[in-house]
Amino acid sequence: MTRSIMDYQNYIDGRFVADEKNEWVEVENPATHEILARVPESSGASIDAAVAAANRAQPAWEKLPAIQRAGYLRKISAKIRENAARIADIIVREQGKTQALANVEANFTADYFDYMAEWARRLEGEVLTSDRAGESIFLHRKPLGTVAGILPWNFPFFLIARKVAPALVTGNTIVLKPSEETPINAFEFAKLVAETDIPPGVINLVGGRGAVAGSKLSSHTGIDLVTFTGSVGTGIRIMQAAAANLTRVNLELGGKAPAIVLADADLDLAAKAIYDSRVINTGQVCNCAERVYVEKKVEAELTEKLAKLFKATRYGDPGAIAELDMGPLINQAARDKLVGIVDRARQAGAEVVTGGKIASLDKGWHYEPTLIVGNKSGAEVMTKETFGPVLPIQSVDSLDEAVALSNDSEYGLTSSIFTKDLNSAFRAVRDLKFGETYVNRENFEAMQGFHAGRKKSGIGGADGKHGLYEFTETHVVYINH
Ligand code: NAD
Repeated sequence: MTRSIMDYQNYIDGRFVADEKNEWVEVENPATHEILARVPESSGASIDAAVAAANRAQPAWEKLPAIQRAGYLRKISAKIRENAARIADIIVREQGKTQALANVEANFTADYFDYMAEWARRLEGEVLTSDRAGESIFLHRKPLGTVAGILPWNFPFFLIARKVAPALVTGNTIVLKPSEETPINAFEFAKLVAETDIPPGVINLVGGRGAVAGSKLSSHTGIDLVTFTGSVGTGIRIMQAAAANLTRVNLELGGKAPAIVLADADLDLAAKAIYDSRVINTGQVCNCAERVYVEKKVEAELTEKLAKLFKATRYGDPGAIAELDMGPLINQAARDKLVGIVDRARQAGAEVVTGGKIASLDKGWHYEPTLIVGNKSGAEVMTKETFGPVLPIQSVDSLDEAVALSNDSEYGLTSSIFTKDLNSAFRAVRDLKFGETYVNRENFEAMQGFHAGRKKSGIGGADGKHGLYEFTETHVVYINH
């Protein structure tokens, strides 16, 4: 029998090449369970070849004027724009995103390449005054060398840009390893790259599972920085693997974002922002509100508004239905995790206001959008990352209590507060121990900001000037003249 599904090949040194192992990872549509394609379970030889190609290409790439490197980023963004609808369709089918959000992701990815290209003329060093007569001290910013980019599945296409664009504009080369759950869009990205005249070896892509290809890449002696987005557990394993060679790491990890709602807040705005934040991408977003602390006085009113929104959520197969608020979860394990967490919340005495069970659809890893009230401090649903459309609420007596509970977490990625009082907002901003705080709006970062987690949410950050400079090191030069 001939296979009708597509087999992708690794992209190494500007060519698509077969892997010697001939072992494959199948990619499933989480809404239909259809097998969409296969990607290589890359052998050590393929990873070595990809790293060697990136190492070979790097010196010449670094020597190109930054404005020429930026020109290649713009060629890539143009290719993405031409193919945005097709890429969005792939994201819908392999990840389960709604069509609207997949379109946003595809176009935002192109914008991100353009944004990072703009930095070409702004990469700056410094000139320092010396304690010695007749001496100048210069700080040069130089690329690190070869970067490994290890990607998650939740914004699989955008995260390619977050790794590739700043790495390349600063003069690094890269080897990418997409998530085994959603590799197709990355292999299609490689095809778009191959249609440009970017020098071979500057961008390489290898498929495979984390424990195999990911682990080999993060412990590779030819890698100068591992930039990783994914779960805390994997982040720790990557840091341990990289430590063997003292390779730098940049880790964007999980979160458990609190949303604080004070009694004076615009409750319609708060409910809508928190709802959007929880349901977007089926709740599978690292920075979106995962727990609510609301002042007692307005708890009932906020809950009623949220329940209305949760109940009206349209979900289903995003490949078949254009107008949806959310699709399925990524896989069965993700759904089983929610089933367990919500059941245990019930057993602990919390009340499920809406949802609370597997959705009754024929196929797909769907879970009903779920609102839970009556949660207590330290409850699992208030502390563990659920990464699904489940929102727990806890009532509090004051801003101080809300801030203390928010900070009582192993995570420190994002947080939000809803209030009309400037003083309360500033007090919260002063005291919240998080990388980002959103005031009176949904959680969604800007590309010119700095997305960085504290505590177990990560090391280092991404975006903007500060994210860009994480791909560089400083060379200090003392000139006696
Ligand atoms: P994951 O940790 O399971 O996998 C991420 C990637 O790591 C995959 O490519 C996987 O193959 C690889 N991997 C797994 N084990 C590995 C190992 N031992 N060595 C090297 N690589 C390995 O994460 P996921 O389930 O794909 O993504 C969801 C998680 O990502 C959530 O916790 C979410 O909060 C987090 N996330 C964080 C951000 C952020 O910016 N902070 C953004 C998106 C997602």
